[in-house]
Amino acid sequence: MTVKTRIAPSPTGWLHIGTARTALFCYLYAKHHGGKFAIRSEDTDRARSLPEYEEEILAGLAWLGLEHDEFVRQSERVSRHQELLEKLVEEGKAYVSEEESKSEAGKMVQIVRLKNPGKSVTFTDLVRGEITFDTSDLGDFVIARAIDDPLYHFAVVVDDMDMEITHVIRGEDHISNTPRQILIQEALGAPRPAYAHLPLILAPDRTKLSKRHGATSIADYRSEGFLPEAFVNYIGMLGWNPGNDREEYSLAEFVEAFELDGVQKHGAIWNREKLLDVNQQWMRKLSDEDFIVQGGITAPDDTKLRMIVPLLKERAKTFKEARDMITGELACMFSAPTLDTALLTVKDVGGNTATHLQRLLNLFPDLHEGMTADEIKAVLMPYADTVSKEEGGRGAALWPLRYALSGEERSPDPFTLISILGAGESGVRIQNALDILKG
Ligand code: GLU
Repeated sequence: MTVKTRIAPSPTGWLHIGTARTALFCYLYAKHHGGKFAIRSEDTDRARSLPEYEEEILAGLAWLGLEHDEFVRQSERVSRHQELLEKLVEEGKAYVSEEESKSEAGKMVQIVRLKNPGKSVTFTDLVRGEITFDTSDLGDFVIARAIDDPLYHFAVVVDDMDMEITHVIRGEDHISNTPRQILIQEALGAPRPAYAHLPLILAPDRTKLSKRHGATSIADYRSEGFLPEAFVNYIGMLGWNPGNDREEYSLAEFVEAFELDGVQKHGAIWNREKLLDVNQQWMRKLSDEDFIVQGGITAPDDTKLRMIVPLLKERAKTFKEARDMITGELACMFSAPTLDTALLTVKDVGGNTATHLQRLLNLFPDLHEGMTADEIKAVLMPYADTVSKEEGGRGAALWPLRYALSGEERSPDPFTLISILGAGESGVRIQNALDILKG
């Protein structure tokens, strides 16, 4: 038997984190077993389904690297659904019932109900073990709003049967749908797939993850500049445990390692900080060139941009942060800052800022092109170390030096700045700060 799984998103919204994680597990399980992974767009809710959602969901799954072997659009299968509804009615396993419409008072509609044998249904869930439901409470439940308009449960069962899905891996919120779907399967004489219901992804406060906890759609993470490799690595660990301490997995490594017995039963907590850290690790693995290209990073000066990639790798956790740094805290690498005298002298004790800057500038003839930040530090730090505690310590010299160079309260250290700006440009900026201090 070839394993075949499917992700069955409804295109009534953007691709959500939970769907992406379910899709990943479906993909991993199938590929681990040399099987196939299908996508089924469940677009039978005609009022709410939109082609642009379907497009975006497919683009999001492709971005994650979850290549599918088959694509099915549920709305294109309506005649098949109708054929099997009619068959069930003919066989007396379902019946058409004339009832008042729920949405339009007074209007009579012909809905289709399944003749429920009212037994208890037991299935083995590959995550949660044996589950038994008494289905007698469900009564003769509705399987179609009309003979040509099947409800979700019926369409899912028919499609899973026709697509030869062997493993239904989906969110835990579908557990209570399973007994209904098994009754429909039995009425149709369809084989029962194996079931695995995945724990939900919860917000840090253990409530259902929603917009108020931050972005929930994959598109938002894409535009924020997360790497798909990082995203896959992070969501792959949400509710799955390899049974050891290993945390870093590429998609191929997950395929190798993934088994459903590593899926935990309790909810998995979404942790943005952790995702950011994982993303940073993956960003740091990129060569400097790939970092610039994949991050869509542009700057006024290419040579300087190449020089600051190590700083971006050290500081940015998303590519958006990296891009923002080019126009924010690292803008000083590309153009001279406008200085604020109050900030220049904020660490001043006894009016010595100008003296410190002048003394540091006097050491500049000892600097030359190509020096590393450490070598520059070795030239300038001894002066800063001479500033006594009473006069504000080394910070009284290093703060105005750094601020004169960057014009930012937060920036790389002054030695790193000089190593990138060059001694010439740095000297000009320090002289400019001195001129401002002279008034
Ligand atoms: N279309 C359903 C949903 O988006 C999934 C159905 C299933 O996986 O069985 O929740």
